Amino acid sequence: MYDQNHLISKLRAASVGHDNRRFAEIPGAGDISYHDLFAGAERMAAALVGLGVTPGDRVAVQVEKTIEAIQLYLGTVMAGGVFLPLNTAYTTPEVAYFLGDAGPRVVVCDPSREAAIAEIAGAARVMTLDAGGQGTLRAAADAETGFAPVARAADDLAAILYTSGTTGRSKGAMLSHANLASNSETLRDYWRFTPDDVLIHALPIFHTHGLFVATNVALLAGASVVFLAGFDADRILEAMPRATALMGVPTFYTRLLNDPRLTPERAANMRLFISGSAPLLVDTHRDWLARTDHTILERYGMTETNMSTSNPYEGERRAGTVGFALPGVEARIRHQGQEVPVGEIGVLEVRGSNVFRGYWQMPEKTAEELLPDGWFITGDLAKVDAEGYVTIVGRAKDLVITGGFNVYPKEIESLIDDLPGVLESAVIGVPHADFGEAVVAVVVPREEGFEAGSVTEGLRDRLAKFKQPKRVILLPELPRNTMGKVQKKALREAYADLFA
Ligand code: AMP
Repeated sequence: MYDQNHLISKLRAASVGHDNRRFAEIPGAGDISYHDLFAGAERMAAALVGLGVTPGDRVAVQVEKTIEAIQLYLGTVMAGGVFLPLNTAYTTPEVAYFLGDAGPRVVVCDPSREAAIAEIAGAARVMTLDAGGQGTLRAAADAETGFAPVARAADDLAAILYTSGTTGRSKGAMLSHANLASNSETLRDYWRFTPDDVLIHALPIFHTHGLFVATNVALLAGASVVFLAGFDADRILEAMPRATALMGVPTFYTRLLNDPRLTPERAANMRLFISGSAPLLVDTHRDWLARTDHTILERYGMTETNMSTSNPYEGERRAGTVGFALPGVEARIRHQGQEVPVGEIGVLEVRGSNVFRGYWQMPEKTAEELLPDGWFITGDLAKVDAEGYVTIVGRAKDLVITGGFNVYPKEIESLIDDLPGVLESAVIGVPHADFGEAVVAVVVPREEGFEAGSVTEGLRDRLAKFKQPKRVILLPELPRNTMGKVQKKALREAYADLFA
């Protein structure tokens, strides 16, 4: 009954005939079987159809991480809809932009935000789902019985994930059924996931890493997960002796290294530690090996491309590199239209069935980055060595990555520049032991007597917490080059030790 829906048929295939197999252990709240996972997803799908969702409709979701939220993802795809997850940290004005741009049929939010979301939801139906998996959507789903997934083809859209743009405007990356299914199949095979695996799932599910890499790979393998609402060192360390794999951002690894309970004995049952979404420091790679006898496998990807490169399962996992282009993915490095020689830096481009279908309602942006012959210009600066190991050397556009989340300086600068008493500003990322990078705002006041605290105060209710500057520095002027461009590199160097 699932075979007409490209992605769902693949996600379900491994567990057909193994209905009692555990999908998730939820510490403190019991287990959920594959049967119950998919039965709940079918009821969600039926509820969404009852709310008017037809094939191609967007379902926007800003909820805490629960099994019901996973069922909502699966149910949306079963209903033929397009899943649109939003970071739980986004404020109401931020959510308003996404709803206005995507025009969803249904918006699902936490009950605490229902009134605020209703005001900005336009024609969309607003439903709720709380951190305990309850709410009006759950109630509507509970009133349903089964559902036969709507037929969807490989090229139909399954999800839109927004990735902030450097110009401040967020872009919705359109991902097809085949984009998601093919990449997760490749990763399952490359990383050797089987039904025997127990994956510690502690990543957020509004981002490609936790939603697609972790969840889809586990489902495609018929594996089980230890399902945690967020990073929790106690729970991760407690689960480790009965788990086999962990997927994390570098911050996970630096935090766990700070815990004396991390030992080779505790990690003895584990077969794989994977890191991505931001650069893993060579020191972390080395320290992890010393503390656990395991070599972290680092991979690289982005919302638009899913995963593109990975260090090998067997063979050398080289610190500071993101490994090789995955099977079925082509990678090249170019500068001004020409491929650069081995060892030289250029912009990384990738091509394959992993690459997205373009930006939602932004044909011009799409044309700038997705070439007619299928190559996608990632915007990441990279180099490749003679053996094919790719190293990401920096971000072409000064993106800041803090705790695994992308922060685009321009968005914050625009808000700061609008504050009373501010002349101009530059937002940079500087090294931070816990977050990888910390957001720092360098601000030029209009006159003397201006207080740095008024910037912090002015941003508090307008930006998600992870985007708010951890430090505000006042300067009489910004360093500029002869072309008038602000020298962010000089600022980063000047403040490199701010959190040392
Ligand atoms: P996102 O779309 O949020 O997944 O962010 C994608 C960006 O994160 C990429 O374009 C890279 O700049 C960065 N990124 C992801 N993985 C890595 C990695 N292993 N090393 C360095 N940068 C990474």
